[in-house]
Amino acid sequence: MIIDCPWCGKRDVREFTYQGDGNIKRPAISDVNVDEFNAYVYDRENPAGDHLELWQHSGGCRSHLLVSRNTLTHQIASCETVGPWADKSGRAGK
Ligand SMILES: [Zn+2]
Repeated sequence: MIIDCPWCGKRDVREFTYQGDGNIKRPAISDVNVDEFNAYVYDRENPAGDHLELWQHSGGCRSHLLVSRNTLTHQIASCETVGPWADKSGRAGK
């Protein structure tokens, strides 16, 4: 599988580390009970088809990436940087 890093270009997946489901949002600890927080930590879907995933280019620029990938075909529809370096101009990102 090839991931097109926005910073480094097309690289083999062996340069990247999977970091989990890209759809999960951490709830504010003050707004949830223990069961809801346990679900946030442990419960994951295993979809067959399009899926948002977090990856890190650990063997390259070390950027955290939001990758839209089809889990059946491994075709990647999009790959974008997330975090403070999301905007290549150097301004704070998303
Ligand atoms: Zn990179």
